[in-house]
Amino acid sequence: MIILKLGGSVLTKKNLTTPEIDYDNLNRICEEIKGSFAKKNKKLIIVHGAGSFGHPPAKKYNIGKKFNMEEFPEKRIGFSKTQNAVKKLNMEICDVFIDNDLPVVSLQPSTFIKTSNGRIKIANLNLIKDYLENNFIPVLYGDVVLDDLLKIAVLSGDQIIQFLAKNLKSDKIILGTDVDGVYNKNPKTNNDAVLFKEFNSLSDLDSFDNTTNVDVTGGMLGKIKELLELADLGIESTIININKEKNVYKALENKDVKGTIISKK
Ligand code: ADP
Repeated sequence: MIILKLGGSVLTKKNLTTPEIDYDNLNRICEEIKGSFAKKNKKLIIVHGAGSFGHPPAKKYNIGKKFNMEEFPEKRIGFSKTQNAVKKLNMEICDVFIDNDLPVVSLQPSTFIKTSNGRIKIANLNLIKDYLENNFIPVLYGDVVLDDLLKIAVLSGDQIIQFLAKNLKSDKIILGTDVDGVYNKNPKTNNDAVLFKEFNSLSDLDSFDNTTNVDVTGGMLGKIKELLELADLGIESTIININKEKNVYKALENKDVKGTIISKK
């Protein structure tokens, strides 16, 4: 079973004030998935990020940050708005999958996942297993969820992947984003950033360049942490650039793709 993450940075146009889907990228990626999936009826789960859809309401209402209980009514409407925004994105993405003949079934994380202090605590995966058995492609995405301690938490697509991979014993994780993999520093702001072919531990970042470790903001550090947990269990992941044509197809077909392998030494 393969888990494929489609980064929000690739599926949506992040710099726009109004959220917009990047249909060119999405249609191309669908074709690539179809080319591989249709051939062998692979077991596949797709997880996508929230990109420019989830971030504005989450930011406006400071969802995911600590708050006092008096603030809860305002937070609650922020939760509703965020949940609805990512659901709309998911619906539009699934529309394109279905137009491309991919048998996707959307599973809304906030309806069956709860966290405790931001980490998944409750999630019944039986239905996902059943859909996989029937050769559907379950699609999940970054969402907001109820949390035991925080009341409300942001659940990233990257944490969902980690949880699914661990509990459904996935064979392979492909994490598609908009850069070629993990660098010693952010490649978007540092021309001299060096790509890791393999990444085994967070200390690998320090060993390259101590001063720029702080550059690892955005999503990359979170991704690496989730994937290193899997590496500890012997599950290998690869981070690749899915803005580049054919990379999704090649990765699904086990062909060589430029990227970073996250594994344990
Ligand atoms: P996605 O939406 O695809 O999941 P994110 O935007 O959350 O991706 O994270 C990917 C971004 O992380 C890249 O566009 C890159 O600019 C940034 N980044 C920061 N530090 C690094 C690093 N050391 N290596 C690679 N990318 C990094």
